[in-house]
Amino acid sequence: MSKESRKFKVPDELANLYDFANSLDVRHFTHHGVQHVQSDALTDPRELAAWMSEHGLLAVGARITPAMFDAALQLRTGVRTYLECDPIERRKDKDAIRPLSNALRAFPLVVEASNDRDMALGPARSDPLAGLSAIAAELYVGSVKGTLDRLKMCAAEECRRVFFDRSKPATRRWCMSTLCGNRMKTRTYRARHRNID
Ligand SMILES: [Zn+2]
Repeated sequence: MSKESRKFKVPDELANLYDFANSLDVRHFTHHGVQHVQSDALTDPRELAAWMSEHGLLAVGARITPAMFDAALQLRTGVRTYLECDPIERRKDKDAIRPLSNALRAFPLVVEASNDRDMALGPARSDPLAGLSAIAAELYVGSVKGTLDRLKMCAAEECRRVFFDRSKPATRRWCMSTLCGNRMKTRTYRARHRNID
């Protein structure tokens, strides 16, 4: 669990998924006169290894190959494309489902029985990339529990941050209403007034 996921009270079962989706930061809005700088925490295999280590998903000394790195990026693209889609639409939108399903083939899961906890989904892979199968397991658990429907992408084009919607009706469209919501509302207001003038 990361500082960010704790700060925004993302449920534990989605914490890695949330962080993984947000490892790409495409925010480019201006806030209080300062332009947000875009960043990508996963630009090469070494960075992916560091990210996985930080999240406890990589064995010490394990090496990520370029092919593993490609599989991870495909998974992130699939996850972001899926989450960008409205939760009701996601289920039937082939363009949202296909890239994610294709990417998930590289992360097969097995049921792990244990005598000291409930059964869990673990990686079928046994190479260094196995830890990233946690993302596939979280997608599955979130989908079964219904919490995945609350994981959304901010509707503001200049934001696109993935957030967990804690509102009761689960109808939030912006990661932060005080930030992205206000910006969008101001813009709509201005556009409407321009039309009247
Ligand atoms: Zn936003």
